[in-house]
Amino acid sequence: MKLILLGAPGAGKGTQAEVLCKELDIPTISTGNILRAAIKNGTPVGLQAKAYMDAGKLVPDEVIIGIITERVAQDDCKNGYILDGVPRTIAQAEALEKAGITFDDVISIEISDETIMERMSGRRVCEHCGASYHLVAVPPKTPGVCDKCGGKLIQRHDDEPETVKARLEVYHRETEPLKAFYAQRGLLKSVENQPTVAETSQAILHALGR
Ligand code: AMP
Repeated sequence: MKLILLGAPGAGKGTQAEVLCKELDIPTISTGNILRAAIKNGTPVGLQAKAYMDAGKLVPDEVIIGIITERVAQDDCKNGYILDGVPRTIAQAEALEKAGITFDDVISIEISDETIMERMSGRRVCEHCGASYHLVAVPPKTPGVCDKCGGKLIQRHDDEPETVKARLEVYHRETEPLKAFYAQRGLLKSVENQPTVAETSQAILHALGR
């Protein structure tokens, strides 16, 4: 099963991807996590991406397409994968199609900008493995420590309110048109954000016919 998770920054794509990845036994490919790891490791891709990310802007399409084509060719992707945070523009979606990378379903998580602004202030991520938490909704067992790897939980630079606003603008302008793009291909399934993570997961699995 090859899936795309669409949705605004903070819609819960990363959190839902983790649930689906276990449920469907396929890997998640998060360009945000791959880029953050690249920055941390000081790779050429990381050096190229950092300024864009800090400003809440999109990293150039060719960098992203390079990352994805390389990643989906790996062995663990042969039964499918979940793309989290990619494609982000029509140009990226077209480039994936051109590269022969196809999808079975596209899930769009629908949530208001107001809810996102509230939510982002509580988001924390593991600086080591990228796992995502929320101070209220998805707290770690020990405050400040990742349940999965023991890494330190930090607030992302780009989760600060001004940057979140910029990222929401970019989402509405560049990414939201992908809904029509995939609706035309008969792949789009819209799922309303629910009060809890578990309920949203259920709604997504239901939309996927599970
Ligand atoms: P995310 O973790 O998905 O919210 O991504 C964090 C930041 O990484 C974004 O604000 C962009 O700067 C960059 N990024 C992640 N995925 C993409 C993508 N598919 N296209 C362009 N930029 C991306």
